[in-house]
Amino acid sequence: MKTIIEPFKIKSVEPINFNTREQRVKILEEACYNPFLIHSDDVLIDLLTDSGTSAMSSNQWAGIMKGDESYAGSPSFFRFKDAVQDITGMPDVIPAHQGRAAEKILFSILGGKGKYFISNTLFDTTRANIEFSGAEGIDLLCEEGKHPSIPAPFKGNLDIVALKKVIAEKGAENIPLCIITITNNSGGGQPVSMQNIREVKKVCAANNIPMFIDACRFAENAYFIKIREYGYSDKTPKEIAQEMFSYADGCTMSAKKDAFANIGGFLAMREPMLALKCRNLLVITEGFPTYGGLAGRDLEAIAIGLVEVLDENYLHYRIRSIEYLTNKLIAAGVPVMQPAGGHAVYLDAKEFLQHIPVDQYPGQALTGALYIEGGVRGVEIGSLMFGKYDEHKNLIPAQMELVRLAIPRRVYTQSHIDYVAEVIIEVFNNRSKIAGLEITEEAEMLRHFTAKLQPVKLTKPAFAIL
Ligand SMILES: *Cc1c(COP(=O)(O)O)cnc(C)c1O
Repeated sequence: MKTIIEPFKIKSVEPINFNTREQRVKILEEACYNPFLIHSDDVLIDLLTDSGTSAMSSNQWAGIMKGDESYAGSPSFFRFKDAVQDITGMPDVIPAHQGRAAEKILFSILGGKGKYFISNTLFDTTRANIEFSGAEGIDLLCEEGKHPSIPAPFKGNLDIVALKKVIAEKGAENIPLCIITITNNSGGGQPVSMQNIREVKKVCAANNIPMFIDACRFAENAYFIKIREYGYSDKTPKEIAQEMFSYADGCTMSAKKDAFANIGGFLAMREPMLALKCRNLLVITEGFPTYGGLAGRDLEAIAIGLVEVLDENYLHYRIRSIEYLTNKLIAAGVPVMQPAGGHAVYLDAKEFLQHIPVDQYPGQALTGALYIEGGVRGVEIGSLMFGKYDEHKNLIPAQMELVRLAIPRRVYTQSHIDYVAEVIIEVFNNRSKIAGLEITEEAEMLRHFTAKLQPVKLTKPAFAIL
């Protein structure tokens, strides 16, 4: 097989600032061992997120110039709406400034005390918006999805048996929505099969529960269906995406992911009364329904991005390049989530740092080690992000302790990726020297963004000096 080349040429470049290991040790300490608190100028390869970090195409930049900034009825809005409708088939399209703004509107209307939202895995902002409304989020990930080292084609699937059980337990009338996250970001960027989407829809429909899609990475999911699911190899990614959305009653989307935009998002749905309520809230919090917190130029960039992302050559390169890094790490014995996900490589920190207990946040400790070794910034998706406390303030850990290295779209080349592999392997070979962390300061919600930590003292004194 020939090398998979980037399906683009580079017209404009951004410099990377280099720094030394000694400088990075100090920078990390000053950032309280939280990569979110490091200045991005101090990062060599930034894999914190694939959100809003895409390189836009020359065509999107041209669209930026064409953006019409009329308050009401801008042609940019209608191009945006057509692009969303072409893929989703949903009549009501509501722009928002990013995915969580769409979520906030939706869950303010449908949420509240005593309500339950079921998902394969809710993304952190989705869960936070659900809980903020007073409702509860329930993740029902399939069994395969819970074992990072065991490969399976569709580890993002929702557990259908568990779905039926939870509906029976909680009562369909208390479940305003079921949300399928494609691909499953918090569960390793793993795809959901068309069969699973169809089955979830069937169970939901039988119980009168609407099914929504969290569509941030719909194109990557569509491509996985094309290459992994029987009966889809001859279909285009667009046809597959259209079929996925055909089963859904609505969707939320962050355009900062698969739409290659630096900002933006939307809500789309089939139920006109719900759309009306959403628009009423939109006007209060985001803006008029034809711009929803975005500039006309952003709407243009999204409209063009939604077409570009379904290009098969792009998706082939995208999925292959994540797989390339994953396979390099597997060959070196590094524990990673298998198979490769759609937008990120996930290191299994529990396996990687077996000497660090979960209440010392092995994932967070690993992000620090990667930064010091090579200036690579990743993010913990484990007990710092999802952990809770019991009544004695003991940690209730997350299901998995992962470190996500999200690859921005169209930004880094193969040599950057080779460098990242070298850094990870070097850290792996010296892993016994990495210490656990303890939290010194934290917020009540989404604590991982701002938490401050410090290394755990390895040896506690046996008795206090009097
Ligand atoms: C990023 C993301 C969101 C939230 O979108 P923002 O634009 O960051 O607010 C919601 N769901 C999933 C699966 C995501 O990846």
